[in-house]
Amino acid sequence: MLSALRGIVQAVNAAGDLQTALEIIVERVASVMGTEVCTVYLRDPESGRLIFMANQGLNPELIGKISLGPDEGLVGQVARREEPLNLDHAEKHPNFLYLPGIGEEQYHSFLGAPIIHQREVLGVLVVQQKDSRRFDEEEEAFLVTMSAQLAGVIAHARATGSINAPQGAVAASALFKGIAGAPGVAIGRAVVIVPPAELSSVPKRQSEDVVAEQDAFERALNSVREDIRQLSDKLVDQLSPEELALFDVYLRILDDGVWLSEVTDKIAEGEWAQGALAQVVSNHIHAFEMMDDAYFKDRATDIKDLGRRVLSYLQAGDEEQEREYPPDTILVGEELTASMLGEVPRAHLVGMVSVRGSSNSHVAILARGMGIPTVMGASDLPYTQIEHANLIVDGYSGFVHYNPSAEVHEHFRALSQEDLVLSQGLEALRDLPCETLDGRHMPLWVNTGLMADVARSLDRGAEGVGLYRTEIPFLLRERFPSEEEQRIIYREQLLAFAPLPVTMRTLDIGGDKALPYFPIDEENPFLGWRGIRVTLDHPEIFLVQVRAMLKASEGLDNLRIMLPMISNVQEVDEALELVRRAYDELLEDGWDISLPPIGVMVEVPAAVYQARQLARRVDFLSVGSNDLTQYLLAVDRNNTRVADLYHAYHPAVLGSLRSVVEAAHLEGKPVGICGELAGDPAAVLLLMAMGYDMLSMNDNSLLRVKAVIRACKFEDLQDLLAVVMELDTADEIRGLLRSTLAKVGMERLLPPRSGG
Ligand code: PEP
Ligand code: MG
Repeated sequence: MLSALRGIVQAVNAAGDLQTALEIIVERVASVMGTEVCTVYLRDPESGRLIFMANQGLNPELIGKISLGPDEGLVGQVARREEPLNLDHAEKHPNFLYLPGIGEEQYHSFLGAPIIHQREVLGVLVVQQKDSRRFDEEEEAFLVTMSAQLAGVIAHARATGSINAPQGAVAASALFKGIAGAPGVAIGRAVVIVPPAELSSVPKRQSEDVVAEQDAFERALNSVREDIRQLSDKLVDQLSPEELALFDVYLRILDDGVWLSEVTDKIAEGEWAQGALAQVVSNHIHAFEMMDDAYFKDRATDIKDLGRRVLSYLQAGDEEQEREYPPDTILVGEELTASMLGEVPRAHLVGMVSVRGSSNSHVAILARGMGIPTVMGASDLPYTQIEHANLIVDGYSGFVHYNPSAEVHEHFRALSQEDLVLSQGLEALRDLPCETLDGRHMPLWVNTGLMADVARSLDRGAEGVGLYRTEIPFLLRERFPSEEEQRIIYREQLLAFAPLPVTMRTLDIGGDKALPYFPIDEENPFLGWRGIRVTLDHPEIFLVQVRAMLKASEGLDNLRIMLPMISNVQEVDEALELVRRAYDELLEDGWDISLPPIGVMVEVPAAVYQARQLARRVDFLSVGSNDLTQYLLAVDRNNTRVADLYHAYHPAVLGSLRSVVEAAHLEGKPVGICGELAGDPAAVLLLMAMGYDMLSMNDNSLLRVKAVIRACKFEDLQDLLAVVMELDTADEIRGLLRSTLAKVGMERLLPPRSGG
């Protein structure tokens, strides 16, 4: 059963369009289950009707022509109740609906399973038989498994199909749902960025010069042939003749006329060489994978390997030519990373869309810091097929509009104009103090990472840096920066803000922040080797960084050092000892520096419970609410599927945040918060009432937060907090915060999601 299931899913995956995919499903499911009839009904999202889309065994003339309302028939019942229905005498069921002409009369048994993707019913999969018998449990389980597996494939094929207009026709508009990553609206053109040598993510693209593409393909092939010959020569003494014969197989595949001519034909039709190669190789891989014979299945692996080798030569050639980014670039990728973001000139980058990830991924945080409207987790976006397409990124609601109509375009143009007016209105607050109507001051600090953040932050009245993410300069390099390189970078930050304090966090890599030159490959990276765990295991990295920070602070004295991912007191003790050692050594070497305040990030539940013990050891605490939310709620901050569960207004998160303040204050230590929640204009009402001594946020949030604080009374905020702490759900809390903001005329500032 399992191999039948896999075989069907693979075949469906390889289908070029939705209709072919559905036809494969009905044919193969009927054959594997031995039923006379198999049908897929697809739900039309607008009318809710279930359309007879693909069938084996009934009247083919009615395909696409008849449909059932959501309350009609057995199929309607399966969709409505979202559960399978298994009947031996379908026609006797009260909901049975006779559809004239379809030819169902002779089939008595009926088994239907809903096709559900991300809680949405996409349709119903039905098998029918003449014999009046209930399908057995195993068959029912098979159909349910089949439809659960096919749901994602169908959703994807539907989304892809929606943008694949036939040649010469005007491409349709389409809407793709993701998660709001960074607020704002971007209107521009898609530029698809792909990880190297990944066949499945090569975008379709029209070539500019067919001859040059043919040449490039020929050169890449020759290079791979040469590599294989060399590899074979090198191993001639170590491998048996049979094993060496593998290389001949490789060379034969590379000389095989069929696929070579398919690639060159596609190039001749105008596709660029990388796209032509990727499409042809993928088709061949699928064809081999479909075969039952193990020998041919292995050939799929060979072809994939060779395809990737050729692709990497093509991409190397491509790199030599500078990639051009239009002035309204919307960067699109399967999994955007901070370093990809760095490749586009800032002035050309207007928006971003990542197929994977969520609003709490680091690239989204960076996007918010840079004010780039972003949608994350647009999982159905057929990103390889939208190169240069017109897109609108709605970073408020998390929707991506493909090829928008004139009306949609106009609506978003007006919205982005409104945004501009709102931001300009907020500019008036720049030089006003951040205090409540009853005179309570709240220091607003900023989170930085790039030099570009600095000028803007100062311009917007930041009172200090609450989090300088030192990993960002590390991410943008090809090796660890040297001590002197680091000193220069840190000095620039400290100098720009002096005499205001700058909190530098020691290197926080691991999780979703991998350095290209120091890969950490783990099953469970967020629970793995991250932050302080890495740097304590590599004191040479930690000491170099701390020394660079201390040296950079000479004569400025505005440095604070902060330790990430602390989960026990020993880590703090060890880190303090190393900082002290670096400091003593520098004093001995004649540096005129003072020991900076040192703080701990509270971002792991264990640290919440030991906040007093931690506070006792250091000078300040700072809550990292992004990670704290992820670890408290057991929701991977990067995972699109569970993004709906990531809620920093969750009562458990708010309860923890309050208890950290109490603990720090009992030890007489200040406590700030530097996660995204600190920049959420609604959440700050609660954070202020809890007693946080400082809020640190990306500079784009600064004036919004100030506007809200200036519109409220501290006394009222304490009452609000008391009510909030009695509520049971994040949704209720959000509702109350929304109405509180509405009362002061600022509902528009409520972010689409809490905490990110
Ligand atoms: C946090 O976890 O809240 C935090 C500020 O750190 P980062 O987002 O860089 O993990
Ligand atoms: Mg963190």
